[in-house]
Amino acid sequence: LTSIGDEARIAIDTLAGRAAGLVSPSLRLGVTGLSRAGKTVFITALVHNLVHGGRLPLFEAQKSGRISRAYLEHQPDDAVPRFQYEDHVAALVDERIWPDSTRAISELRLTIDYESASGWGRLFSRGRLSLDVVDYPGEWLLDLPLLGKDYADFSRDACDLARLPVRADLSAEWAALASAADPDAPADEMTARRLAEAFAAYLKACKEDERALSTLPPGRFLMPGDLEGSPALTFSPLPELGGERAKPGSLRAMMERRYEAYKTHVVKPFFREHVARLDRQIVLIDAMQALNAGPEAVADLERALTEILACFRQGRGNMLTSLFSRTIDRILIAATKADHIHHESHDRLQAIVRRLADRAIERASFSGAEVEVLAMAAVRATREGTVKQGRDTLPVIIGTPIAGERINGDTFDGETETAIFPGDLPEKAAAAWKDSGGAADAPIRFVRFRPPKLERTAEGLTLSLPHIRLDRALQFLIGDQLA
Ligand code: GDP
Repeated sequence: LTSIGDEARIAIDTLAGRAAGLVSPSLRLGVTGLSRAGKTVFITALVHNLVHGGRLPLFEAQKSGRISRAYLEHQPDDAVPRFQYEDHVAALVDERIWPDSTRAISELRLTIDYESASGWGRLFSRGRLSLDVVDYPGEWLLDLPLLGKDYADFSRDACDLARLPVRADLSAEWAALASAADPDAPADEMTARRLAEAFAAYLKACKEDERALSTLPPGRFLMPGDLEGSPALTFSPLPELGGERAKPGSLRAMMERRYEAYKTHVVKPFFREHVARLDRQIVLIDAMQALNAGPEAVADLERALTEILACFRQGRGNMLTSLFSRTIDRILIAATKADHIHHESHDRLQAIVRRLADRAIERASFSGAEVEVLAMAAVRATREGTVKQGRDTLPVIIGTPIAGERINGDTFDGETETAIFPGDLPEKAAAAWKDSGGAADAPIRFVRFRPPKLERTAEGLTLSLPHIRLDRALQFLIGDQLA
């Protein structure tokens, strides 16, 4: 699937990475998930808590006082934008608004000075770990299958999906344009652009549709990064292509060339230069939103998770991991935003995610890395309380709903703290979504809250961001590297 040139470059990259690793141990942590899953918030909270010595009782190195200092350093990759940590912290802490979400790849280096837990380790050196956090859209991972498809395969698959009843209404405009286009007609830039725009609009509509349809490739049509408007993105599938070769100079030939360019210049370099170099990975999922939207959305989330996990599969059957020896050895699948539900439901949320993950692992014939599952909130925007209703005492969560959010006909002003009864997650979580389709369960009540107000200490220091189980995530992702 890849050329010899690619393989050689991957091998060289890997060796160079290793050599660099001998000098200063570094760990590359990938953070991904579909858009709005919580990547930006997660990275910001992780760094903030480490730099400010946050409360992380289940992160052993921190708890035992072995971390002497954690600080930001220049990231090693000059060609990758830096993760705008300072801006995101300012938004969260000073303005109490959620930061701008991930739109493209970015990176940040956090260096941790620590003392080894073992006497031997302490004797020989003080420990230092450089953690390179790489933030990238999960949509881009969904491009991997394209590498195994030529333009005719891609067109056929895309047209089949577009014709499915759930998508037919959303794809109608593009489908009409595409069937009117003559693949053998001379290539014309305007036609190509109109088709590409209509196709991108259809993919976006799927993403925004409340039925939460699965995300379809090409990933850059949804998250273009810095490629917006470039020829590599100005193509579209065409229906009813025959088996014959494209006529030189035709619309089909032009589309075919651009599709191949997309694979060569966009998809392959992304996997080679970024995904292939990761050591650890966290996949964030917005399980809360899916549960809220109903069983179809949950099934869809599972599908996306399957495809994402397939990218990290090791060994035969994955063109990426079979090419080099440096592979991801730990993957954490984390459902964020658990602060929207009462802690009594956290384990239930985790059980639902575990079930989703188990099935995704099975379907992706995933093997290789150790996979863990967690329900967490990178930033905890709520606290818990109880309210009396008649004879009952109900568990509630208390926070400041974002201005304009509504529940039971009330609209919030963005300033007032409010207690909300979030409802329970389905009792028989694990079985519920499979067997009953989840249909019988009332959705959880869900409003978006503003980030929390941070207390300041007498010395004027701002305490670190509160979270739920961020420490467990850290322990799994990097704990062993600080032993
Ligand atoms: P990204 O697209 O994956 O970078 O997603 P973001 O990190 O920007 O998160 C998207 C939105 O989800 C944010 O604007 C918040 O509204 C919400 N969110 C993310 N993480 C949390 C969390 O830990 N707690 C709460 N309450 N909301 C969160």
